[in-house]
Amino acid sequence: MAIAFPQVIIIGGGAAGFFGAIAAAETNPNLRVILLEAGPEVLTKVRISGGGRCNVTHACFDPAALVQHYPRGSRALISPFSRFQPGDTIAWFEDRGVSLKTEADGRLFPVTDDSATIVHCLQKAAQQAGVEIRTRCPVIQVRNLPVQNLPGRELSEFELTLKNGLALRCDRLLLASGSSPLGHRIATHLGHTIAPIAPSLFTFNIADSALKTLAGVSVPNAQLKLLANGIKFNQSGPLLITHWGLSGPAVLKLSAWAARELKHCNYRAQLWVNWLPELSGEQVRDRLTAGRSQAPRKQLSNHRPLPLPQRLWDYLLAHTAIDPATRWSELSKSALHRLSQAIHQGEYAITGKGVFKDEFVTCGGINLNEVNFKTLESRIAPGLYFAGEVLDIDGVTGGFNFQNAWTTSYLAGQSMAKGLLNA
Ligand SMILES: Cc1cc2nc3c(=O)[nH]c(=O)nc-3n(C[C@H](O)[C@H](O)[C@H](O)COP(=O)(O)OP(=O)(O)OC[C@H]3O[C@@H](n4cnc5c(N)ncnc54)[C@H](O)[C@@H]3O)c2cc1C
Repeated sequence: MAIAFPQVIIIGGGAAGFFGAIAAAETNPNLRVILLEAGPEVLTKVRISGGGRCNVTHACFDPAALVQHYPRGSRALISPFSRFQPGDTIAWFEDRGVSLKTEADGRLFPVTDDSATIVHCLQKAAQQAGVEIRTRCPVIQVRNLPVQNLPGRELSEFELTLKNGLALRCDRLLLASGSSPLGHRIATHLGHTIAPIAPSLFTFNIADSALKTLAGVSVPNAQLKLLANGIKFNQSGPLLITHWGLSGPAVLKLSAWAARELKHCNYRAQLWVNWLPELSGEQVRDRLTAGRSQAPRKQLSNHRPLPLPQRLWDYLLAHTAIDPATRWSELSKSALHRLSQAIHQGEYAITGKGVFKDEFVTCGGINLNEVNFKTLESRIAPGLYFAGEVLDIDGVTGGFNFQNAWTTSYLAGQSMAKGLLNA
């Protein structure tokens, strides 16, 4: 039986589902907007995000620069970001009484430093816009019904089956199911294909027990080169040594850009670390050579001619089989060469994927050429829309993943509602 008034259903009560539901309901107050969440709680990832502080977005306001932070989706996001970008996100939350602050590295958080501020804001906005929220409602199947032409209305119709057997119908459907395999199955059933799934934003396990004893040591800027599955990747930034290997922004960025290749080689790959990229290889050698004349009587461990943390210096000596008690005047040419190589091009074996607890995202999802990025509508099943992580889009750490959710869901919500304005 056809429904008597235009109805929009959103599958998924995460950041994208909420933002899309609010955008649809606010754009067209005559719509009935129903949000279905499988779990007992909504917005669970928002609550735990950013270490409980929620890194809402990033202070990057130029769409062309912004898309550079997305290993998957950069081309597709150019047009959406020209219509809703971090400046709009900031204004959206400001309009609803939430102030955000920018940290030195560009990440934005609520001034309260509490993700609950964002959760409450989204819940209140949804309630005020009249969105009906139903939790413990996993959608297990969606059928695309033939288009119904009612007097004055031309609508697509979807029939959703919930796990409890209940069936619901709607004119527009937004799939905002994140990385859930069930969401991907629903999309596949409606004719879509899924780009291969792989974890992104993880740390590296390194097979070097001596390195792990340096847990907690960091350098402000290291340059990393990775060879995974025959492909080379480069990244630079802060690097942190952990109990299991390497972490920090440089490693997380590298894990994102090489997510599929690293998965393909089962997280076994070669990594080269330049601990001092601001100096050329020649400059490193010159400084080490100068050490011989500057402090000939001192032991190597007691005189560091390079700006490296003491524990890292000691490790590099051990790593290159140089006795730290050696006097600078006794440092042989070959030992000096080994040391400069280890500083400038230290080679490490990645033996596995670590777990990073602050942010984690899935690469892969709905193939982007099957989606119209002006509206976020499916090119295969009219009336079906996508937003957030369900798409084959993921960003590096820093607020970019939520920005993808805000942008795509805002545009999807508006498009769905506008398409039903005269229905
Ligand atoms: C620990 C952690 C911290 C993070 N911190 C940050 C951060 O600070 N900044 C940032 O930008 N990104 C962060 N991220 C990434 C960010 O949380 C995600 O990219 C974002 O939440 C994706 O939003 P979404 O709405 O698309 O998907 P989700 O948040 O995953 O929401 C999807 C929802 O759909 C529901 N669902 C799935 N299938 C069905 C179904 N069949 N029926 C009904 N409901 C269904 C799920 O239960 C879920 O609630 C973090 C991620 C993690 C894991």
